[in-house]
Amino acid sequence: MRVGIVGAGQLARMMAEEASAMGVELVLLADAASDGAVASVHEVRYGAAMDDAALRSLSAEVDVMTFDHELVNLETLHALEDAGHKVFPSPAALLFAVDKAEMRRLCLTHGLPAPAFELFGATDPIDLDALGARLGWPLVLKAARGGYDGRGVFVVADAAEASTVVADLQGAGIAVVAEERAQIVRELAALVVRRPSGEMVAWPAMETAQITGVCREVLLPGALDAGLAAEAIAIARRVAEAIGLVGVMAVELFETPEGLVVNELALRPHNSGHWTQDGSVTSQFANHLRAVLDLPLGVTDLTAPAVASVNVFGGPEGAAPLLSGLPGALGVRGAHVHLYGKETRPMRKLGHVNVTGDNVEEVRRLAWQAAAALGTPVPQEIEEQIR
Ligand code: ADP
Repeated sequence: MRVGIVGAGQLARMMAEEASAMGVELVLLADAASDGAVASVHEVRYGAAMDDAALRSLSAEVDVMTFDHELVNLETLHALEDAGHKVFPSPAALLFAVDKAEMRRLCLTHGLPAPAFELFGATDPIDLDALGARLGWPLVLKAARGGYDGRGVFVVADAAEASTVVADLQGAGIAVVAEERAQIVRELAALVVRRPSGEMVAWPAMETAQITGVCREVLLPGALDAGLAAEAIAIARRVAEAIGLVGVMAVELFETPEGLVVNELALRPHNSGHWTQDGSVTSQFANHLRAVLDLPLGVTDLTAPAVASVNVFGGPEGAAPLLSGLPGALGVRGAHVHLYGKETRPMRKLGHVNVTGDNVEEVRRLAWQAAAALGTPVPQEIEEQIR
């Protein structure tokens, strides 16, 4: 069983650990030898995920192709699929993770809860005053394609600010998604995995605590209301059926005073699910591989009553090298350290630490202690809570 992975970042690296355990062979399509997964996989090809020839030659030597990221050449993937190659998730499904306008259309056609939105092509004129009157100021403008980690998402206060963003996006030939600004109480993620036969399992829904736009920790049990968590999973299951998902998918949602709304989809293992490596009987990486190979999915029960997963970020310029903190981190009782093989840079995500146990406050404190030992700056508000 040979699986080709397009992209060789940290998700591919963590899939490689599970592939090794199951005796599955991986072939990576990497951009560069410095990519995080290259050091852990024997067979590596070099090429771009947008390159037609590179994708075709990868597909020729594997049983199924899957992905470490979504910035891929969908046209080639369609052609490969038409020629009988297995591509999971399918390009038709991937489209909803690649293109935010298509994802909003999916919400509309399947009655999935979403913020009020309007879609504009790259050449469509936009009457911004009228748009603001309909959606309210401030509103949110998004690049339909190409954005990630919040780049490509703009909260604009008025028509003047909006017109600069629209000019930039449309000027670059990018379609625009305009959304009402949701009143976010919490951000959460629902993680599911589905096999070609339709078998599907879910992990518990997670709160993805954001500090200045990045997720710093995931805690189980978190502060989510049980009903809301169940609803988030039900929404994710509906999305999975609607798009014929194969593999892992995270649905990112907002809790608002009016209830849940879908923000976006990731059709791959997701940062919010890294806790599953140590906190779930089957990790998201193992189940992703099982799903794309059409093997029985593993159960998603928790291995302990409480789980904390804290992201490791690079410290300030001139900070000690990451690995100099390893003894300190490994010295924290129960800390499972997962590093991505990346060079340290200030606030670059370099890994995560999982801790499981009986008490969520305790595992949270230990996970932060280990992340801090690895040089992760600890936000003031968290420092106060874990003290
Ligand atoms: P990316 O694809 O770059 O990750 P997202 O669509 O996830 O971008 O948006 C990034 C962040 O912007 C979200 O996590 C959320 O905090 C904020 N955001 C996005 N859409 C809205 C919205 N309609 N209302 C309010 N905030 C939003």
